[in-house]
Order: sequence, then C-alpha cells, then structure tokens
Amino acid sequence: MAGRASVPAVSRRNLPVEYEAVIGLEVHAHLLTASKIFCGCATAFGAPPNTQVCEVCLGMPGSLPVLNHKAVEFALKMALATNCRVNPESVFARKNYFYPDLPKGYQISQYELPLAEHGFLDIKVEGVARRIGITRIHMEEDAGKLIHSESRPVSFVDFNRTGVPLIEIVSEPDLRTPDEAVEYLKGLRNILLYLEICDGNMEEGSLRCDANISLRPVGQTGLGARAELKNMNSFRFVKAALEYEIKRQRALLTAGREIVQETRLWDTAANQTVSMRGKEEAHDYRYFPDPDLVPVRIEAGWLESLRKNLPELPAAVCIRFQTEYGLPEYDAEVLTSDKTRADKFEATVKGFPHLSPKQVSNWFLDDPTSMSTITPAASGSLLTLVEKGTISRNQAKEVLKEVMATGKDPETIIKEKGLAQISDASALKSLAQEIINANPQEAADYRAGKTKVMGFFVGQLMKQTRGQANPQLANEIFQRLLK
Ligand code: ADP
Ligand code: MG
Ligand code: ZN
Repeated sequence: MAGRASVPAVSRRNLPVEYEAVIGLEVHAHLLTASKIFCGCATAFGAPPNTQVCEVCLGMPGSLPVLNHKAVEFALKMALATNCRVNPESVFARKNYFYPDLPKGYQISQYELPLAEHGFLDIKVEGVARRIGITRIHMEEDAGKLIHSESRPVSFVDFNRTGVPLIEIVSEPDLRTPDEAVEYLKGLRNILLYLEICDGNMEEGSLRCDANISLRPVGQTGLGARAELKNMNSFRFVKAALEYEIKRQRALLTAGREIVQETRLWDTAANQTVSMRGKEEAHDYRYFPDPDLVPVRIEAGWLESLRKNLPELPAAVCIRFQTEYGLPEYDAEVLTSDKTRADKFEATVKGFPHLSPKQVSNWFLDDPTSMSTITPAASGSLLTLVEKGTISRNQAKEVLKEVMATGKDPETIIKEKGLAQISDASALKSLAQEIINANPQEAADYRAGKTKVMGFFVGQLMKQTRGQANPQLANEIFQRLLK
C-alpha cells in the first residue's frame, strides 16, 4: 500500500518542468551627428583608418572633452519617442577597463544618473500586443575598432569610431520569446529612423544589440541566472542566438544542472553561442563621475520644444493610414513597420490619386522589398497600367522584377518586351470573328447551348495573340459575336 501511495508523488516529480524565457536587450545606436560626442572630429563611416582623430578622442593627456549639443538633442528625441522620463540632471561617468581600442583606458558613459528612465515600447507579435519596459537610455562614446590581419599575426586599430556618440537603450526583462525580441529591436530601429537620428545600419555597426537571456519555470516570478549574448549585428543572428540559448539552457536545467552567469558570443560559422567569460572574470568597471565634464542639465523649455516638434512617429502614422486611406489595421501596421515602405506607399497614393489605396497597399504587402526599392513614380505607373488592363497582374510582377533589375520605367519595359496585353477591343474583335469563321462546328455547338466551347474560342484567341489578349475582354467579345 505504501508503495502505491508513493507513485503519484514520484510521477509528479518526473513531470517535465515547463520553462519560459526571460529576455532583456541592451541596444546601442550611433547618433547621426556630423561630429563626435566630445570633440570636433567627423563621424562619417568608411574613411581611411585614423584620419578622423584628435587629441581628445585619442585621450592625450591634458585634452578636455566638450559635450556635443546635437548629440544630447538626438538622445532626448529618442527618450521622448519611447515615453521615457528625462532626468533634469544627468551625469557622465568613467567606465574603466583596458582594451587596445580604448585609448583613454576608460569609456565616458553614464551610470548612476542616466539621461532618461522609465519608458516603454509597444510591440505586437502575431496579433498579440505587449508593452516592453525601457529601463533607461544613456549616452556614451563608442570605442575604436580592431582589425586583425589575415596574412600576419598582427592586429591594427582604427580610432575613427572612437568618440562617435551612442545611446544605449536598456530594456526591462519583459521579452518572452526570440520573436518578441526581434520585434522590439525592429520597433526601436524604426523609431530611430523616423526620428532621423540613426541610420539603423546593423552591418556597419550603427545599431548593435546585447541580449540577456535566462529561463525560469513557468509561474515563477524571480529571475534565473542569465547569459549575456554580446554584440549581435543582425535580426537573424539575434533570433538564432536566442533560440539556441533557450535550447542550451533548457537542456542543462532539465538535466538538473545549473546555469552559470556568463558572457557568450554568437559564432556565426558554427551556429551556436560560445562562452567568452564567466562571472568571475566579469569586469569591475570602477565607475566614477567624470571630473572633466559638468552634469548635464536639461532645460524644461528645451525639452518641451523638442517634444512639440517630434516628427510623426510610426504608431501615429499607422492610425492615420487607417483613417485617411481606409486601410485595414493589419495593412497599416505592416506598412508603418518600415519607414521607407510607409513613405513610398504614401508617395504612390498621393502621386496617383486614381489608384485605390488598398490596391496599392496590397502590392506593398505582397512584395515589400521591391515596392520599397523602386520609385513611387515607377510603382504608380505600374499599378496604373494594371488598372487600365494594359498588363495583367502576373505581367506586372514580371515588370516589377525588371524595374528592380534595370531601373527602367515600367512603360519602357512593357514596350521592349512586347508585354502589353491586347485590350484594344476592335483588334480583338476582328481576330475573334476570323476564329469563329474558321470553326463553324464549334460556333454552332455554342449557339446550341454548349457553352463550354467558350474555353476553346478564348484559347484559340490567346494562342493567336501569344497570350497577350486580355482574357476577360476576349470572353465578352466572343459572347457578343456568338449571340
Ligand atoms: P549589466 O549592466 O550587468 O549588463 P543590467 O542589470 O543592467 O546588467 O541588465 C542588462 C540587461 O539584462 C537588461 O536589459 C535587463 O533587463 C536584462 N536582465 C537582467 N537580468 C536578467 C535575467 N536574469 N534574465 C534575462 N535578462 C536579464
Ligand atoms: Mg550588459
Ligand atoms: Zn577627436
């Protein structure tokens, strides 16, 4: 009896524990200022190494940093756009560590008193809306870049990037899935682009992301030990690395092992995360307020005028697209999730008012990449040609590919390829009459009620026009001629 009684307890213990992922992102964005954050050096990407440097960004003794006003303005715009509270006073601090790409031996950042705190960003994944907390936004300078020689065992350092202004946007651990993390990152990038304060180029490193991830049993509220995945520079890597990490951590926990807090890297070649350093090797940055810089005091009037002059942000454009153009919510969301897409859509609709906005939207949803690449003039004229029946939808898709490949305008491509469907009723009518004359038996059959023969007639006409007849028009013409 005692043995039987213990059975449920044992099997309950053996039930697999369900885990949920807890994810928080630290996102770094280059600000599009012309000069660096604490000196007058240019920030442009791609210049020959070490041509955009001076004594300040190289950390020469005795040089003094002076804060770039524009960088503060841009950072404040992001703070306002993400619903943050801006601190009336914030403080720059030195983050001390040694690395060859950091000439001063410390990075100027913000620590205890950041520029802004307590914001949020609303995201939607598969129709489910979620509000993701933003813990803080602070300003800092970027470090230089190491370039490792492929032919010799040496490395070079390029200090052009040293001192380029960055904002770091730290989220609450509110994200639950890799898809949510990617959506949140895309949402931030989109807002940065709408504000025109960052180019959002992840390949060039203008937007980078560290992802922190832990697992915990569903229902538990505390946080588990986390891995910090460093410096991911594409949406695909963020998703893949988080998915890999969920599997890795779940396997460890299920096997009764512990997760150790550590920093890991995404190895793009091996498609896995690898350990970079553990908690014991974690840096102690010895932050302290930078004595060379005064606290940043944000005047209320300045902040208010920035708030008033914020450009229309994606969430507002999304609502406007629904009211102004009668688009379904889904269409408006997809269009405004990418600034270029939304801008091109709107320019097409405004430039070609005879087109129905929903029709235009359908094309953008169907092939967002092509439609966002070609000019509104090209997309407008393409869709007009479809509407007039000059070309069919399938032909238009072909033309769209050609516009992408050659940059030629749709009308030229249609002429060059002889693509236009024949919608000229009189030309089709004489051809149709010839076909009827040549096939008296079929004509008689049709008139006797065998309406299926219509397919034969239209088929003949398509054959003679090498598929260029407008099939609907052909149908109508035959019906009339065979009455
Ligand atoms: P650090 O400065 O050491 O990187 P923070 O406490 O500032 O640590 O957190 C950095 C990021 O990690 C934040 O986005 C936060 O939400 C997230 N985070 C913190 N703890 C966890 C955890 N246990 N699991 C997942 N994410 C976490
Ligand atoms: Mg961190
Ligand atoms: Zn400089």
